[in-house]
Amino acid sequence: MRTYKTIRHLQNRLQQYRKEGKKIGFVPTMGALHQGHISLIQQSNQQSDITVCSIFVNPTQFNVAEDLKKYPRTLEKDVEMLKKGGCDIVFYPSVDEMYPPQQNNNFEIDFGDLETVMEGAHRPGHFAGVAQVLKRFLDIVDPDAMYMGQKDYQQFTIVRALLKQLKSKTQLVMGETIREKDGLAMSSRNMRLTPKERTIAPLISKTLFAAKEKIKTHSIAQIKKEALEQLDIPEFKVEYFEIADGITLQAITTIKNSSIVVACTAVHLGAVRLIDNVILIDD
Ligand code: AMP
Repeated sequence: MRTYKTIRHLQNRLQQYRKEGKKIGFVPTMGALHQGHISLIQQSNQQSDITVCSIFVNPTQFNVAEDLKKYPRTLEKDVEMLKKGGCDIVFYPSVDEMYPPQQNNNFEIDFGDLETVMEGAHRPGHFAGVAQVLKRFLDIVDPDAMYMGQKDYQQFTIVRALLKQLKSKTQLVMGETIREKDGLAMSSRNMRLTPKERTIAPLISKTLFAAKEKIKTHSIAQIKKEALEQLDIPEFKVEYFEIADGITLQAITTIKNSSIVVACTAVHLGAVRLIDNVILIDD
């Protein structure tokens, strides 16, 4: 496995691979890797010749300075995991390498209603930052395929819209959400939970899976009401629990007009904000 910090060195190597006709798969991450990330690496490995993983804690997608400061950084361990996971190239640029101060780094794109709901409503500027960093990565890596997790369902949908607007040839592939044995979705943020909080956290996925059980028999309003009751414990501060159309991401009141239905939630547990989702219907 090769590691690069500069765009120039990375691109030299990628050019070589491209000349050899190799298909390049790309997995963007912010590090503090876990099995969820590694499953994306493995998926890329199966479908591409060369897998590139980026590790970059993108400052422009954090709307709370404290969250950026506290974001876990475990580069050495990450590199070890990637080596074992079969990654070919790790790219871990500095902030200046990604956003050169002498360069105009502005990039704005309108995602319409996709970004005004759920994460977009609660984390102003977050998706603008995500789009900015991915546009930059797409320009740098120019992958044939990009692998992203269902764990961040809204992000995936926004990136699909981004690729469409850019008329990009990069194929976007969704990886399933990898969970701990007790159902908690793996997340870099989980390591910031106290042992007590860690025992409580699986109630989030439990609630989402309970919603899935009810989707064919209960009304959306009833499912939402019961989910909010389930999540109503002193340790949780629920930011949202939505049942949405899986394509438009708009909240729905009936499943009639949606081919994909997804339940998404964001919950604060102590100092940590956790998100998770479950696809309720996928026809
Ligand atoms: P992050 O490092 O949190 O920005 O995540 C990098 C990529 O890994 C994103 O595409 C996430 O959706 C994906 N990811 C994060 N957690 C999981 C998980 N538990 N299962 C599958 N993919 C995940």
